Amino acid sequence: MSQQRPLTDTLIATADSHSAHNYHPLPVVIAEAEGAWMTDVEGRRYLDLLAGYSALNFGHRHPRLVAAAKAQLDRVTLTSRAFHHDRFAAFCTELAELCGMEAVLPMNTGAEAVETAVKTARLWGYRVKGVPADEARIVVAAGNFHGRTTTIVSFSTDPEAREGFGPYTPGFDIVPYGDRAALEAAVDDRTVAVLLEPIQGEAGVLVPPPGYLAAAREITARRGALLIADEVQSGLGRTGRTFACEHEGVVPDMYVLGKALGGGILPVSAVVSSRAVLEVFTPGSHGSTFGGNPLACAVALEVVAMLRTGEYQQRSAELGAYLHGELAELAATGAVREVRGRGLWAGVDVDPAFGSGRRLSALLMERGVLVKDTHGSTIRIAPPLVIAKEDLAWALQQLREVLAAG
Ligand SMILES: *Cc1c(COP(=O)(O)O)cnc(C)c1O
Repeated sequence: MSQQRPLTDTLIATADSHSAHNYHPLPVVIAEAEGAWMTDVEGRRYLDLLAGYSALNFGHRHPRLVAAAKAQLDRVTLTSRAFHHDRFAAFCTELAELCGMEAVLPMNTGAEAVETAVKTARLWGYRVKGVPADEARIVVAAGNFHGRTTTIVSFSTDPEAREGFGPYTPGFDIVPYGDRAALEAAVDDRTVAVLLEPIQGEAGVLVPPPGYLAAAREITARRGALLIADEVQSGLGRTGRTFACEHEGVVPDMYVLGKALGGGILPVSAVVSSRAVLEVFTPGSHGSTFGGNPLACAVALEVVAMLRTGEYQQRSAELGAYLHGELAELAATGAVREVRGRGLWAGVDVDPAFGSGRRLSALLMERGVLVKDTHGSTIRIAPPLVIAKEDLAWALQQLREVLAAG
């Protein structure tokens, strides 16, 4: 590395010796951020093309979200669900309405919301569908990413995420993503749900073939199983629509939301569904100390209000069209093998001869652009939806130059 970065090196070395190494971050230490830009401890600026895996759809410290959080900090922050609080009703009503659904079950992280969806589907299966006790099955897709709990990694196909964490939770059937015949064959009388990401983010922003989600909808409806859309990463504006399912005109039985729901300020997640489905819970059957707390509700309410304007979805669609147009040109030069995605979300496979996605990420970092590799030679581009077009153009220029340099 050309520049001297003494503070960066010290902080990284100290963090390395005092933390578990369950991540391999790029060697940059962020101190501040605003909008789509971050500043490191040396005062260097970086354009954020990861947006906290879509937790930062509205950018860093969006003024509306910060104002909502600050106002709530001065009123009440936590009650637990042992008592009612005055933000809860509005949060549930507004979020359900944004989703075109009826009821909300709030949690904190995405993984907790997925766990909640799994528990909901099983309860619903036993109580409503009449599946014999302990026989419920949930169909999931290979290459999925739904979080990191022991049950969720039980149905992961990523050895890194899964190996060493057994014994695994039974009750899941894994089918190839995008294969409707396999899905059809996997769903039987004991199937309580099909759980899918409408676009697989961690797998490299994989968009399923046209008609796949609609087929999943048709199969689950016909066989009396729930369709659960994990829109933790794909939802809330990322793809140019409020939900990625909308691109196929599909309405699932349940949305799993997280990431951007917390406005980049705190973890907020939820399962959103019909009253008939969420009614399976009774007091004591599920819960969370922090789920649905006043601060979370206040921030998420503002997130919902911002999405209601449609402005962020539109930005994502417009800038996304520009992004994908530019990436298609790069693909034509051969440096890029394949580009996938929708809206301001792209998985970019570079020519393996160029090296790993990690190498590309490191080279882009040197130029002030922060991206994250996924598997092998893939990087993902998912800037905050508030990014300026000029900034995005500049980042793409950096990518072009890095790839041209070989
Ligand atoms: C990130 C993610 C999760 C897990 O969310 P956490 O908040 O990290 O627990 C679940 N599903 C999808 C699709 C995700 O992208």
